[in-house]
Amino acid sequence: MTTTAVPLAELVGRVTKVAGEHVRRTDDEAAFPVEALDELRATGLLGLLVPAGDGGLGGSLADVLETSAELGRVDMSLAMIFAMHCQQVAAVLAHAEGKLRAELLPEIAAGRLYLGSVTTEAGKGGHLLTAESAAAWRDGGLLVDRFAPIVTGGRHADGFLITMRAPDADADNQVSLVYAARDQLEIEQAGGWEPLGMRASDSGALRLRGRVPAHQVVGRHGDFHTIVTTVFGPLAHLGWASCWLGTAAGALSRVIASLRGSRGKTDLSSELLMTRLSRSRQRLDTVHALIDRARHVVETAADLSVPKVQLLINAVKITAAEECYRAVDELVDAVGMRHGYLRDSPTRLEQSLRDLRSAVLNYSNDRLHLADGRLTLLDQEVRFA
Ligand SMILES: Cc1cc2nc3c(=O)[nH]c(=O)nc-3n(C[C@H](O)[C@H](O)[C@H](O)COP(=O)(O)OP(=O)(O)OC[C@H]3O[C@@H](n4cnc5c(N)ncnc54)[C@H](O)[C@@H]3O)c2cc1C
Repeated sequence: MTTTAVPLAELVGRVTKVAGEHVRRTDDEAAFPVEALDELRATGLLGLLVPAGDGGLGGSLADVLETSAELGRVDMSLAMIFAMHCQQVAAVLAHAEGKLRAELLPEIAAGRLYLGSVTTEAGKGGHLLTAESAAAWRDGGLLVDRFAPIVTGGRHADGFLITMRAPDADADNQVSLVYAARDQLEIEQAGGWEPLGMRASDSGALRLRGRVPAHQVVGRHGDFHTIVTTVFGPLAHLGWASCWLGTAAGALSRVIASLRGSRGKTDLSSELLMTRLSRSRQRLDTVHALIDRARHVVETAADLSVPKVQLLINAVKITAAEECYRAVDELVDAVGMRHGYLRDSPTRLEQSLRDLRSAVLNYSNDRLHLADGRLTLLDQEVRFA
């Protein structure tokens, strides 16, 4: 529950209205949804998770997931922009201390600080727990020199949370999470963004160089692992899954509107159509139930690092990525060429399918299955969270 006088649904509705006006163009042109980001700033939703005492909306994890899903119904790129920003904010809230915390929270709450995420690296791909570029001490500050092959909203973010090998580290798994404001960096665009889907996320490559004050580290140097287990993993997997669920739910909703509005042109008694609609809906109810269960566990578990909890959090990501894509793919068969395949259909299945194709890649399901195999071996009793 947020502490704002305006209901959350109303604030989110203001953003989805703006997003809906621009979604065709931002997809066509692979253009970042600046108008919708401005509305996220103006509504205070960029500060959704910041406690009211610090000037934010004081929202919960459930609020973040609900908002991500609602944005996903209209524009999956925008939803991912929002969910990933909230993941960064959650890391700041849980692990930033003292001066850094005092500097960042009012800016986030006021909608002036949209946070980009820099974890992927060229050599190690998506592997979160290692880093190749190292932060180095220089004149009492931290030197940042980082190639970032994929940064959502990198050209629009006001600041970044960047993983780098800790200064003085002797192993690549001693990773630090460093904050750098946009104006503390020289930012060079190192590649374009012309993808199949997620086109409005503007996730092109950047080269980031600069020096930041020593206090701009989130958590302890070399201890990013703790942030991953307690914040990044749960928020990323539940947040992304909610975006994907929203996108698939939006697609199903538009298909139902199209079928009901077809005034007898579609045979609504077709058993094949009913079965396909049923399967699509069933997949979404499964994902919804899984997200909700995992949210409850994340909010109440004493220790998020135990195998059964990690397995559940990973299952949300793996399952949502596969099932939401399949649900929309099934809808293409259900409605056929005109409304399933053509770009100008009001069902927008074509865009939803392209966007959802990124879900298994966005932190590869293959990688998660390898981790889950190892975790499964650690839980001989096979107890569920
Ligand atoms: C739309 C979108 C937005 C993104 N935004 C950001 C962002 O803002 N910031 C950011 O840092 N990153 C971002 N990413 C990157 C994302 O988090 C992943 O890190 C990235 O998608 C992985 O890229 P990859 O598939 O090339 O690399 P890898 O993870 O290296 O995987 C490549 C392929 O190789 C296989 N593979 C490689 N290594 C292994 C292994 N050890 N175990 C099992 N299989 C393996 C897998 O089959 C995988 O499909 C984004 C990705 C997408 C799709």
